[in-house]
Amino acid sequence: MSKPLKPSSSASAEQPVPGPEDAKKIYAAALSEGLSSVRLQLHQIRQHPPQVLHLEGCDASSRASMALWWAALLNCASPDAGPCLSCASCLRIAAGMHPDILVFDGRAASIKIAEVRTLNPLLGEKPHFARKRVVLFHEAQSLGIEAANSLLKILEEPSPDTTFVFTVPQRERLLPTLVSRGWVITLPWQPMDQMDGGEERSVADDLENFLAHGKDWFGQARQRSELDALSVQRIIGAVQKALIERHEDSCMTPLGSMLAPLPEEELLRISELCQDHGEALQYQVNPSYVLDAFAAGLYRIVHRLG
Ligand SMILES: [Zn+2]
Repeated sequence: MSKPLKPSSSASAEQPVPGPEDAKKIYAAALSEGLSSVRLQLHQIRQHPPQVLHLEGCDASSRASMALWWAALLNCASPDAGPCLSCASCLRIAAGMHPDILVFDGRAASIKIAEVRTLNPLLGEKPHFARKRVVLFHEAQSLGIEAANSLLKILEEPSPDTTFVFTVPQRERLLPTLVSRGWVITLPWQPMDQMDGGEERSVADDLENFLAHGKDWFGQARQRSELDALSVQRIIGAVQKALIERHEDSCMTPLGSMLAPLPEEELLRISELCQDHGEALQYQVNPSYVLDAFAAGLYRIVHRLG
């Protein structure tokens, strides 16, 4: 069971504030060049934050970092040019020690209804220190169905001092009623043309070719054995990006047009496939094995082989 509320309400102003160096590491992913447009968007809406914000796209650690950056922006002592990342509020948020920033973490285990219910008495109170209390659900696809329904009830009640943030790989992983209550911001992926060398691009081409024609993938295993986990993560990211493209007017990649005709339920399976294999990379499984398993799984779904 994931820890319900972190920090607990026992966190107090008397506790020592963590150092700025530690905070910098936490906010680093949110500060990356590729996410500048997202920071700008968030900055523009900070005066009137939506009650519910969904952060989808990119990878789980960038989403988590951006969600904390958003909480910092809403509560920083001098937020005009973005959160300062060095005031007491910014430092406490980074360290998980701010009593008004309530974190539910779905990264390790599913989020249960009992945990969500702990919010009920809190939301009626004024925040301790914050201008805006932030309730953050990391990887909210881990909300159980009962927990999600209980949360929907909570969202029906006005809570003007509170804003909710959900991070999720793709919005389809949440209940549609939860998505429709919020504002969705898509974090961009590392663009394919910015990949290191031509190697990943060529592997991504191989993957497209394999999905379309079902050949040549396993004959080129040697080239792929050179790929590291980051490269494989980017290739998986390209597939996640193709899933998101369906919501945008931008022109589709070949991969996007291959996935577009599939029914929602199959697209959801692809989203889960991306997440599972992205996680496998973090457990230091050989990256090329992960990519082969990913390609085979994707092929089965695209060609409806069960
Ligand atoms: Zn600050």
